[in-house]
Amino acid sequence: MKHAQSPSTAAPAEDGQPVELDAVVVGAGVAGLYQLHQLRRQGLRVRAFDSADDVGGTWCWNRYPGARFDSEAYIYQYLFSESLYKDWSWSRRFPDQGEVERWMHYVADTLDLRPHISLSTTVTSAHFDEDRGRWTVRTDRGDTVDTQFLVSCAGMLSAPLDDWFPGQETFHGPVVHTARWPREGVELRGRKVAVIGTGATGIQVVQTIADQVDRLTVFARTPQYVLPMKNPSYGPSEVAAYKDRFEELRGTLPETFTGFEYDFTHTWAECTPRQRRDILEEVYQDGSLKLWLAGFGETFFEADVNEEVSEFVREKMRGRLRDERLIDLLVPGDYGFGERRVPLENGYLETYHRDNVELVGVADNPITRFVPEGIELADGSVHDVDVIIMAIGFDAGTGALTRIDLRGRDGRSLREEWGHDIRTTMGLAVHGYPNLLTAGAPLAPAAALCNMTTCLQQQTEWISDAIGHLRGTGASLIEPTAEAEQAWVDHHEETANAMLLTRTASWYMGANIPGKPRRMLSYTGGAGAYRRKCADVAAAGYPGFRIE
Ligand code: NAP
Repeated sequence: MKHAQSPSTAAPAEDGQPVELDAVVVGAGVAGLYQLHQLRRQGLRVRAFDSADDVGGTWCWNRYPGARFDSEAYIYQYLFSESLYKDWSWSRRFPDQGEVERWMHYVADTLDLRPHISLSTTVTSAHFDEDRGRWTVRTDRGDTVDTQFLVSCAGMLSAPLDDWFPGQETFHGPVVHTARWPREGVELRGRKVAVIGTGATGIQVVQTIADQVDRLTVFARTPQYVLPMKNPSYGPSEVAAYKDRFEELRGTLPETFTGFEYDFTHTWAECTPRQRRDILEEVYQDGSLKLWLAGFGETFFEADVNEEVSEFVREKMRGRLRDERLIDLLVPGDYGFGERRVPLENGYLETYHRDNVELVGVADNPITRFVPEGIELADGSVHDVDVIIMAIGFDAGTGALTRIDLRGRDGRSLREEWGHDIRTTMGLAVHGYPNLLTAGAPLAPAAALCNMTTCLQQQTEWISDAIGHLRGTGASLIEPTAEAEQAWVDHHEETANAMLLTRTASWYMGANIPGKPRRMLSYTGGAGAYRRKCADVAAAGYPGFRIE
């Protein structure tokens, strides 16, 4: 259902003055909706803005064929309200985008948030006025807002890579990025379709559309470790069973390493080779991300353990593929399991056995440009296609904020600063940008390594508490000190560098974008440990933050 678009009611008041608010929330996805709800409950005058034409964030934009959860539905949840949790019933373990989007609408409607959201409205600039201690926020629809707090819930994977291939405009058919999939869909039946990219998105697209299209050509650069998904549907008894676990999940999710219900419980060194194999087999058979996030923690830290686990997964993948060429192109050999985001799939590998599917390796023979009839590679060969699907990813972590002209004290530009060095304080604030508070920004688990709802709830709650603290004490400004920020960056680096994740080029490291500073985007000390650190700062009265 398409909801009527709410007017952009933050437009200048009749006297031409900007609308005055206490807080602007950027984004109306998982984080933005809950942030808006909390700040409204605290009595703030607050408005959320979102570029999309409906609420839901990632679940509004990513409507490409095959998009679905790979966190179990009953943990990808808001846990602050038992009734919100229990009054919605999921149809299966990993529901598809349509169902998730309906759930986000249910959340927005149940919490009566829509009147406070300006949709189809992009925040284009936000400038901090040091004398007044306030932000001036402008949008592409002519809104000007004068606000005390600017809260970014703009998403960590919401800025699609738009630096496409030369010649794109010459191609005769549609070129669609998966994160900008049109509501009306794209006609794929009976057509020759190209998919560029085999990350979590490309994999979902490929396995879903192969039997719909006339011919599918997949351009793959880096092979991915994949795990098969088991996705049972839920009847009343399964739904009742997970709802009965509400209190338990509320206790456990925030404490685990990645905000999932499971955690690492085995120690590699204490197991015999036989036991290790049995445990790996058991977590593999779960049909979830358990092998990655609840197998052996040493997989993330110890190269020899990682190699054994990697070989376990490679063996499984090779066993499903018929010929050596496919094995060469699809089974990773030169990096370790879990060092890039692990996608779940459903018959993805077998898709390449279909007669109408061609896999083109572009690691050594890259795509050079689009031509009217299709895609040209470095060797001059041209692949004729009718539609090109770009599953090429995002400017992760930073892109949502750097696409805004965001200026802090002394006119400093976040785009310029993060262009050299990506820095935050606990992923929640940035030195030089008073009263800017961020959920899902770099250097927190929510930037990548977390079940998003778990980490975004924790962050938005911390932000609400900080704003509540200011208002309760009569203060009006919060900003991390340069020293506190440096200490967090140092801690972040030390934690990240202990992990194997940093040895592999991936979007986690900003490596998918030429020139982007290399830094692990996600804090890797664990969601539970991070939550406790944040709580300690709040309980101690925000040491490391200038509060005035
Ligand atoms: P991604 O992981 O960054 O994958 C992008 C793909 O495009 C990679 O295969 C990349 O190859 C390829 N690519 C980029 N530029 C290319 C070029 N010039 N030539 C050839 N190939 C090129 O992006 P994504 O798949 O959209 O996933 C991003 C993240 O979104 C995931 O990691 C995950 O966190 C999230 N996600 C979650 C779900 C879910 O199930 N919940 C589903 C989809 C996405 P290289 O690897 O060689 O760079």
